[in-house]
Amino acid sequence: MNYTITVLPGDGIGPEVITEAVKVMNAVGEKFGHIFTPQSGPVGGNAIDDFGTPLPEETKDLCENTDAILFGAVGGPKWDDPQAKTRPEDGILAIRKNLGLFANLRPVKIFPQLINSSPVKPHILQDVDMLIIRELTGGLYFAEPKKRWEEDSERKAVDTLLYSEHEIERVVKVAFELAKSRKQHVTSVDKANVLESGRLWREVTIEVSKEYPEIELDHLLVDNASMQLIREPSRFDVIVAENTFGDILTDEASILSGSMGMLPSASLAGTPGSTESSVNLFEPIHGSAPDIAGQGIANPIGTILSMALMLRYSLHLYNEADAVERAVEGVLSEGFRTTDISSDGGEIVATQRMGDLIAGNI
Ligand code: NAD
Repeated sequence: MNYTITVLPGDGIGPEVITEAVKVMNAVGEKFGHIFTPQSGPVGGNAIDDFGTPLPEETKDLCENTDAILFGAVGGPKWDDPQAKTRPEDGILAIRKNLGLFANLRPVKIFPQLINSSPVKPHILQDVDMLIIRELTGGLYFAEPKKRWEEDSERKAVDTLLYSEHEIERVVKVAFELAKSRKQHVTSVDKANVLESGRLWREVTIEVSKEYPEIELDHLLVDNASMQLIREPSRFDVIVAENTFGDILTDEASILSGSMGMLPSASLAGTPGSTESSVNLFEPIHGSAPDIAGQGIANPIGTILSMALMLRYSLHLYNEADAVERAVEGVLSEGFRTTDISSDGGEIVATQRMGDLIAGNI
């Protein structure tokens, strides 16, 4: 089969980790007889420098006319001026909004080979295998009013936590659908004791759950959820949360795996398995890591595993996706580590070599 893949490297370590993911994608193509044609465009800070906008029209077009998008990361201190008219992150926010990417899937699985790399005790990490689903196009990051002003001689600012019923319903459905082929357990996270939006979230979730009698549903307040994630992470199967809570919980969960550099994500515009065609986006959960950019030491595994999610969820190439995940495990079993996951020993390798090893293991 032939596939066109929009590849958006972005800033900082984005281009470094994307190069390795494309290398592994090509190895999959060779092994399984597919042709992946990458089409690349500017996004983020470098696009602001060259085109005055974090999402040039040309890149927007590439995102709309493709089989899937593989994204690196954007941002960096160069573009951090709080007074700036536009920021690199506006580029990825606009792609999510334009394509209607409402469900962000972040699987958190502990590779047994890395169990000692995590700051969390190994016995707590036994059997951790969860999927966090974060709502991605609503809530505090998008809703209006969103502004700053001056009043009574002081600065004021407001963001709005607004959710409509249909926004909650569709993301919660994704959670229930995916729980079917897992441990059949959904934990919905909210702040229903304090927030009106949290009470609506819980109400709609309970309504959706009636369509899925075989799936167990429980609810956790977000403060409790953040504690349980570290205290007893193996209790979770599928977690679903609104945008901000999901953002924070997934970064917390990344610590279980030993490094931000290990975790992939998929942003979907439809329920997996549905017949509607949509363009989905795949990216590591980490940012542009300006502190290590250009040193060749970034961990490319989160991006490579994101590419595996792309094969599974957008191209429906299930054996190929499994092959990528097995290749990563194989390289870790052989003892190869990037710096961020090397606390337990092993042979430290650079970004490029890690990509070569994984590609060679396909
Ligand atoms: P970050 O994820 O870039 O880095 C956090 C820490 O994790 C750093 O110490 C970094 O070196 C380390 N790290 C991250 N990825 C790694 C990898 N692959 N290998 C090894 N170590 C890795 O978060 P930050 O420092 O808070 O943000 C940096 C910039 O990235 C900011 O401008 C932020 O806005 C942006 N950002 C972008 C995205 C995105 O593009 N989707 C997401 C988050 C942050």
